[in-house]
Amino acid sequence: MAVKLKKQKIVAGNWKMNKNMQEATALVEAILSKSLPNDVTVVLCTPSVYCAKIGEMIAKSPTLKLGAQNCHHEVNGAFTGEISVDMLKSTGVEYVIVGHSERREYQKEQSDVLVKKISLLLSNGLTPIYCCGEPLSIREKNKQNLYVSKQIRSELFHLNSDDIKKIVIAYEPIWAIGTGLTASPEQAQEMHKFIRRTIKKQFGNDVAKNMSILYGGSANAANAKILFSQPDVDGGLIGGASLKADDFAVIINSY
Ligand code: PEP
Repeated sequence: MAVKLKKQKIVAGNWKMNKNMQEATALVEAILSKSLPNDVTVVLCTPSVYCAKIGEMIAKSPTLKLGAQNCHHEVNGAFTGEISVDMLKSTGVEYVIVGHSERREYQKEQSDVLVKKISLLLSNGLTPIYCCGEPLSIREKNKQNLYVSKQIRSELFHLNSDDIKKIVIAYEPIWAIGTGLTASPEQAQEMHKFIRRTIKKQFGNDVAKNMSILYGGSANAANAKILFSQPDVDGGLIGGASLKADDFAVIINSY
């Protein structure tokens, strides 16, 4: 059974392709030394090559969970260089990011592949952190709701009512990722509310109200508090600011 069954406050760090092994373990040690709230689940989405080591380092932490940034959509086989769900699971990974805009753009990942990844993760008891969000050109035309609802319809609406409860959604406006431009608290709240309503229409109120919807896009130690105070924002997916233990701890403590 996947980890996430009811609404949780979650802060997930997406390290992307950063840090060598020594830097990565030093970062984890620094995060472990921080005082963290016990009602927030903190997920470290490390490069896969460090998962086993970091899994051991955080095994006794009540707060820190292990995440990965990607998985392959097939169970196993002749896919040189790829990493399977079972491999990740065997290192202690509990959460996997799916549909990040960087993979959609650079690896040309499309809905059909994302659907397979999500199903495979769920059947292995892992929690997908499913990313959606619009590019700037769509936001400028004020068509972001249509864009995001199309993503969710194509990539999540095939799930049954048990499986949808095990998903974490991350709203990440592409124009805000790594750019220093953050969605305003009002823009984030408006979209999160819309996403919750979209989920409610298809899966009902119970599912929608228990869904954790994270905000991602240049969230940092200075803006996390106001973003997390929005009623439909249940945490964050944090890129750049998750690479510094001090900043990441401030973000986690921003609830
Ligand atoms: C991300 O890539 O998921 C992200 C939110 O990055 P950043 O916080 O650096 O914008």
